[in-house]
Amino acid sequence: MNQLTLPLPDEASTLKLGADLATACTGTTVIHLFGDLGAGKTTFSRGFLQARGHKGNVKSPTYTLVEPYQLHPMAVYHFDLYRLADPEELEFMGIRDYFTEDAICLVEWPQQGAGVLPDPDLELTLEYQAEGRLATIKAVSEAGNRLLLVLQEQG
Ligand code: ADP
Ligand code: MG
Repeated sequence: MNQLTLPLPDEASTLKLGADLATACTGTTVIHLFGDLGAGKTTFSRGFLQARGHKGNVKSPTYTLVEPYQLHPMAVYHFDLYRLADPEELEFMGIRDYFTEDAICLVEWPQQGAGVLPDPDLELTLEYQAEGRLATIKAVSEAGNRLLLVLQEQG
């Protein structure tokens, strides 16, 4: 499958990547966000959510695990599984409902939900690079592949 590497020299470029992907998403999509603390996963999510019409703050749902955004035409669910003690907790919070709905799911720390989380369409990895970040976006489904092509065409 397709993979794309993008340098993100500053916060604005992380927000723009989020916004560009948000614009490209036309159907149910799951994006897994990898990277150390402070790598920019929540910043990416903020750019994404604001481009889909959310006004106001985006903070990571570190304690609640998920923050729902009822946007049109599709809801966006922002997960942060950093504090998840056991992937089985996801079953108790009704994880399937979030992922079977026609919605977009952004998941920070998806490795914490291994075995229970459904497979993503895209895997985004953010790494520290000098003063900025390096983004690697990997398509892991047909829908993800299509999204990556749209992103590449936008340049
Ligand atoms: P995470 O959710 O991965 O823990 P956050 O998005 O909460 O990370 O925090 C990332 C921090 O890094 C913020 O202070 C943000 O302003 C900054 N940041 C985001 N993207 C970049 C970038 N491309 N270059 C430099 N700093 C960035
Ligand atoms: Mg975060």
